[in-house]
Formats: sequence, C-alpha cells, structure tokens
Amino acid sequence: MTSSSDSGNGTSLPPAAHDRAELAATVDELETLSRFDSDGAAQQAEQSARWAAELGLTELRLRAELVGADMLRRRGNVADAGRIAQDVHRWAAENGSAHLLARSHFVLTAVFQELGDVSQALEHAVRAVDLLGEAGSPALRIDHLVRLADCLGLNGDVAARDRYAQVLRLAEEIGDVDRQLLVLNNRAYCETLAGAFDAALEYSTRLQTLAAAHGVPLDVGRLDTIGRALIGLDRLAEAEAVMLPGLSPEALGESLDGDAGADFLLTLAEVQRRLGRVSEAQLTLDECVRRCTEHGLTSIRVRARREQAELHAARGDFRAAFGEHKVYCAELMDLQSAQRDARARALQAMYETTEARRQTRRYRELSLRDPLTGLYNRRYVDEQLPRLLDRAAAPGAAVTVALLDLDHFKRVNDTYSHEVGDEVLRRVAELLQAAVPATGSAGSFAARMGGEEFLLVLVGPEPPAAAEQLDELRRAVAGHPWGDLTGTVPITLSVGATTDAHHDHPTPAHLLGAADAHLYDAKRQGRNRVVSDLTWSPVGSPVRGSSAGQ
Ligand code: GH3
Ligand code: MG
Ligand code: MG
Repeated sequence: MTSSSDSGNGTSLPPAAHDRAELAATVDELETLSRFDSDGAAQQAEQSARWAAELGLTELRLRAELVGADMLRRRGNVADAGRIAQDVHRWAAENGSAHLLARSHFVLTAVFQELGDVSQALEHAVRAVDLLGEAGSPALRIDHLVRLADCLGLNGDVAARDRYAQVLRLAEEIGDVDRQLLVLNNRAYCETLAGAFDAALEYSTRLQTLAAAHGVPLDVGRLDTIGRALIGLDRLAEAEAVMLPGLSPEALGESLDGDAGADFLLTLAEVQRRLGRVSEAQLTLDECVRRCTEHGLTSIRVRARREQAELHAARGDFRAAFGEHKVYCAELMDLQSAQRDARARALQAMYETTEARRQTRRYRELSLRDPLTGLYNRRYVDEQLPRLLDRAAAPGAAVTVALLDLDHFKRVNDTYSHEVGDEVLRRVAELLQAAVPATGSAGSFAARMGGEEFLLVLVGPEPPAAAEQLDELRRAVAGHPWGDLTGTVPITLSVGATTDAHHDHPTPAHLLGAADAHLYDAKRQGRNRVVSDLTWSPVGSPVRGSSAGQ
C-alpha cells in the first residue's frame, strides 16, 4: 500500500499536486483492499484521514473515515460506525458527492444489518449499488454487490442466488481470486442458513478447489462454512477431516476477527461429539470457552453452554446436562436483552432527533421486559432493587422481597406441552401483577427471574401485612380455575420472603439470598406455602413464620 509517512508531518504548506495524487491513490486502495486487511487498514485509514484534513481535502478525508468506520463496525463498535456513516452521509447529500453517498450507504447497510433492521439494511444496500454505478472500480462494484447479496441471503431471500451468481461472474472476469473466494464462501454460508446443504456443499467444494489451485490457505471462518455444509448432510467424518487444518496454531491464531476461531471450535466440538468422541469434543469446547473468556465473546459463550449440556448428556450425566441447560436458557435471555440495549444505544448515537429518542425509550423499555409474560426481567431487578433499597433506607418504608417458584412445574410441561407450560406462566404472571398495589406503594413491582421463578417486591406494607398479602397470592394461584388448561394437575407455588428491616446490610444480594433460603425451606416442607422471616417481631424472640394451605 502506498506510504504516507513522509507527508503527515503537520507542515502547513499548500497541498502539492503530487501529495493530492498520492493521497487519492492511497484512499482508492484502502477502499478496495480494506476488506482483506483488517488491522493495517484501520491504521492506514486513520492516517490518511489526518493527512487529508491537513491538506483541507474534505471528500478524501471522509472517504478514509468511512473505511475506518467499516472496520470499527467489524470489531463490534456498531454505534460509532453508524454515527460516522450517518455524518458522512449528511455531508455527501448536501455537497452532491455520489461516490461518498454510495460509500456511506455501503457502511450503513452493514450497520443496520447488525442492528437487526432488515428493511433499512436492504434499502441502503440497493442505494449503495445504484449510486456507485459504472463509475466505481470493478472491485468496489463487486464489494457493493456482495453486500447486497449478503443482505438478501442472510434474510433468506432467494433473490440472493442470482445476485451471487452475477457478482461471481464479475470477479471471474477481472480474475480477482480473493473476491471469488469471498463470494463462494458467503454463498455457501447462506445456503447452509437456508438449509440447502447440497447447494452449500457445491459452493464449499468450489471454494476449496479454487483456494487449492491458487495456494490460498482457508481461514477458520471458511473451514467452518465447509464443515457446516457437511454436518448438514450428516457427513460428520468428512466434516472433521476438512476442519482439522484449522486447529493448527497458525490458522487459529491468524483468524481476522476474534469470533471466527471460537465459532470454528464450537462447530468442531459438535462434530466430535456426534462422532462419539466425547473427551476430544470436551477438550475442543474447553478451548472455545477459553477464547470466549479471553476475548469477551458473549454470544458464542452462551451457545457453548448448549453444547456443554449436550456433552454432559452424551456422557450420561443428565443432572449436569440439565443444570447447564438451565444456565444456557438464563444467559440467552440476558444476552437478548443486552443486545436490545446495545441496539438502543447504537440508534441513539446515530440520530439525535426526538423521534429516535422516543424509539430508544421504547427499545429500552422492551429490554427490561420478559417477552413471554410482559413482566419486568432480571435486568430490571438488577437495576431497580439497589435504587429502591437506597431510597427506602432514608424514610424507612419497609421493602419486602419475595421469590416465588412454581411447584413441580416440570410435570406440566411433561404431561401436556411446553405451550401449555407457557400459558400457565402467563396466567401466573397476571395473578402476580394483580398483587402489585396500583397506588400508595410506589416502587413495588413483579418480575420474572427466569424459568418458572418470579420475584415480587412490595414497598410500604409492614412485614406482617406483607406476609398476609403473599399468602393471599399463594391461595389465589392454588385456587385459580386451572382445569381447562391443566386438568387434574394442580398449579401451586412456593414462596420465600424477607424484609430489609431484618438485615443490617440490606443489599439486593443479601435479601435475594435470604428469600432463596426460605424458598428452599418452603420446598422442603412440602411446597404450596410461604416461608419467611416477615412475622418475626421487631422486639422479643424471632419466630419463623410458615403458612401452608390446602
Ligand atoms: P420444584 O417444585 O422443585 O420447583 O420442581 P419444578 O419441576 O418446578 O422445578 P425444576 O427446576 O426441576 O423444573 C423447572 C421446569 O420449568 C423445567 C423447565 O422445563 C421449565 N421451564 C423453565 N422455563 C420455562 C418456560 O419458559 N416455559 C415452559 N413451558 N417451561 C419452562
Ligand atoms: Mg419449580
Ligand atoms: Mg425453579
């Protein structure tokens, strides 16, 4: 790549023609090469943008900034990437720069794809292709067309196939092997997503053949694509054989984005497990998890838990499998709400308009709700409970914290179905919500902690009154007409509760811990009961309260 080191020294001489030409050439190259050279390109882009700023060449500066933004996005910083692309887009529209408009649409395509906004992504992709037109270099046209095809393909649109075919021909015409490999890989990947594993294998095979013919080693991302195609066809031994080169330290170490290596190991662990080689699969998965921890790869870490549960089951340890599966479910929910949160932040960074702020609030509100029941979720509890306890500490309004867990809920799922189980959870949630006083008890709320475990926080009522309310709720659930849903299988819940008044350090962790210990007692004592320390008298000797009803 063209060097710019001898010109970025901050002198304020007027831009010489050769400086402009050199910088323009550098930015041209950056735009076309950045797809394949992640780290170096990011630095080059920054340097070029600085250089262009010194020379007062705004358009070149913004082109370099867009390259930088696309790299930022690839490293996970979608919010900043989106903000930069949006700013550049505005400038380009005001100043009538078709090339910059096309390039900003190109970056915005990927930004919206990652934000999960399919229709916006597609709109930007089409504009990115249209505005570039015949004026762009063939390589750049290919890049814009590939992004459009990816956009269609990732959303399962069959139109992607024609697009990939067209863009593959273009890459072949100009003899660009790197871009041919890129198209073949992306096409194969989209085919696996569509469940068309025969087609996926066809393009995987072409990918392998072309790479071999040109002596290009396949990176772990591509080996993963090929592996998945073979797994889809149940050709497990072949999948493993194809993937093994990816285990070499060079291949794993060199993977461009941090995710690729961990993703690859997760796929390989699945193959090894399904081939019956459980110990090897475990080692592979351990390495995957290690990488997730090292690089903070949350979403792959969560998927690794599902594989871990499968591995426990394959070993016959169903207890451990179930435990791991529960953690998987809980973390998946956390991840989804964290992702909604991240989307909200990214959108906020992109538009500072009122409308967007309204959208942001809606996303934020959504990110604090459990999608099944509409109750608040664990995330809300983690945010709200500490505030509530701080606030309550001052004027002295009592805070009751109760954990509620459905009894033998597994039986409902097993006897009927998961759908019936879900409906039971929804109705229990309604009863629970009804137990939250509408007025006069500011801060009280109900939440779903995960699975069939709920939380009720009551602010205001003195502990004995709160105990009575909880038992009322318990009776309301037990006495609800469940017959139409669960026939003769009863629906009851066990409750463990405590109050901040009985703790020297009423932190969320202490209160939840105490409530959980009481809940455990309630289960042990036979379920369908409330166990709490709420009826301890403030003076005199504490008497542990337990109320059960038939
Ligand atoms: P216990 O009385 O000891 O609490 O027994 P249990 O069966 O209720 O408790 P366990 O923890 O053994 O099982 C909880 C079950 O809840 C297992 C799981 O299938 C089910 N479950 C968790 N989340 C959901 C959900 O979102 N929907 C449905 N339908 N079932 C769920
Ligand atoms: Mg239960
Ligand atoms: Mg439970």
